[in-house]
Amino acid sequence: MKFATFTHAGRRAVGVVDPQKGLVWPLDDVLGEPVADMLDLVRRYDEIEARIRPNGHALALADVVLDAPIPRPFRNILCVGKNYHEHAQEFAASGFDSSATSKADAVPAAPIVFTKAPESVIGIDQPILHRAEVSDAVDYEAELGVIIGTGGRGIARKDAYAHVWGYTIVNDVTARDWQGRHKQWFLGKSFDTFCPMGPWIATADEVDPENLSIKCWVNDELRQDANTRDLIFDIPTLIETISAAVTLYPGDVIATGTPAGVGIGFTPPRYLAPGDRVRIEVEGIGTLVNPVAAG
Ligand code: MG
Repeated sequence: MKFATFTHAGRRAVGVVDPQKGLVWPLDDVLGEPVADMLDLVRRYDEIEARIRPNGHALALADVVLDAPIPRPFRNILCVGKNYHEHAQEFAASGFDSSATSKADAVPAAPIVFTKAPESVIGIDQPILHRAEVSDAVDYEAELGVIIGTGGRGIARKDAYAHVWGYTIVNDVTARDWQGRHKQWFLGKSFDTFCPMGPWIATADEVDPENLSIKCWVNDELRQDANTRDLIFDIPTLIETISAAVTLYPGDVIATGTPAGVGIGFTPPRYLAPGDRVRIEVEGIGTLVNPVAAG
């Protein structure tokens, strides 16, 4: 199933989505009991899943405003840097890669994990704010996002997928100048509006995360065209690595890294500017579109 967070008639709710039919069923109605938000759904999913049968009154997707599926994650979004071979090379060659000192270590030997502030999250159609006086090097990064279901620490590779609740699309928008200058990536990755997410979450049973086409267009020009089978560190490795150090909780988001074709990979770089439109499509999940606006 696919679950969205949406606003309708001034009220935010969680619902089951059928993209083909263009409908969303509010979960409160489906279950006959309140579901507070997406995190509430994730935490209680095993208990209520069998009762989620979309029927009765549905709203047209066209009549609701889709929010980010988790509009305000309860803590930072976990992110993985340089997790596709071609992108690792293009980034190391860009001169902004503070994590590599030579071409020889462009491809990391272990996952590079950083985080984005939860306040950076926005939903589909919301503008990525471009503040030219703060950064003129704003870049896009199409990524598969993993939503953790059952939490845990010390999760083994072989058990990792049992801890995944679903998948979404994340645009890991980055101020390249800040990413390079400040060495630690947090600031350049965490500007307000720099984490478009959505349009919804597809539950884990719906997709094969190891074979998903991932594409990104800027103004209808295809910039990124890859497949998640080319991840350097696969999802079980990421979960094993992160959870060895940090307890994972239901609703944690892991952005798995971006493939080649980001703006910084071009010579000269092709950064985002107000008026641009970024569209990301991940097979089996959906399409995430965000305009870029002067902020
Ligand atoms: Mg990224």
